[in-house]
Amino acid sequence: MTPPDIGEAHWRELRARAKSLLNLELNAEQLGRFARFTTLLLEWNQRINLTGITDPDEIAVKHFLDSLTLATVIPRFDGLRIVDVGTGAGFPGLVIAIMYPECQVTLMDSTGKKLRFIEHIGEALGLGNIRVLHSRAEDAGRSRSHREVYDIVTARAVAPMPALMEYTLPLAKLEGQVIVMRGAEAYDESNAAARAIDILGGELYAIEEIRLPTLSNSRYLVLVDKVEPTPRGYPRNAGTPTREPIV
Ligand code: SAM
Repeated sequence: MTPPDIGEAHWRELRARAKSLLNLELNAEQLGRFARFTTLLLEWNQRINLTGITDPDEIAVKHFLDSLTLATVIPRFDGLRIVDVGTGAGFPGLVIAIMYPECQVTLMDSTGKKLRFIEHIGEALGLGNIRVLHSRAEDAGRSRSHREVYDIVTARAVAPMPALMEYTLPLAKLEGQVIVMRGAEAYDESNAAARAIDILGGELYAIEEIRLPTLSNSRYLVLVDKVEPTPRGYPRNAGTPTREPIV
């Protein structure tokens, strides 16, 4: 089976939507990279399970436009260090790397074969600002090389909020920020994670609602500031945050 053709109309529409909804200007190089990324995603998806979304229009909205919402809240400065936890096929992390060439983006996942896809995309698109990290978030959060070193920690569709806070907050440096992408339950989930946020050194800063075309439910960006160091002992051993979430 050959992957569906990626017509230019998807990318013209994405450019128009990014401008009108997010006030983002996408240039031809960025759009070309998104198109190539999509072609390779659909090719590789025939061999390894990278995404359940295979319609190019849906990919443009649910993967690219959704990931681009982060570009409305991530600051821009040279050398900004970002880590995307549970990046999967690179959403939102690879999209952010394409948008922010001046930033260093670490794409972390516990599944090695997904990271081989990311490496392939990095080479095919000539991205010099990414590196992959094959690790569980809990292990990275306990290692000297990754604990409290990132300015921005992102995650989409990785775990329920209390566990996700234990995956992400230890990686953020003091005065850094965790930004997680959530669905319709974002407010309730954030309430449920209030104790975890507090214990792990975070403070809820804002919940931003974003409406995307074709989606009936709003999307939300939950922004959590890192205001205190994460106490020793967190994150707990791999698997514990989901098995015994802080509640
Ligand atoms: N963020 C991508 C997206 O939104 O398309 C992928 C989401 S996928 C549902 C969840 C990903 O998180 C998987 O690739 C999985 O391997 C990874 N993951 C789950 N738990 C993890 C952990 N503790 N540490 C690192 N990666 C994890």
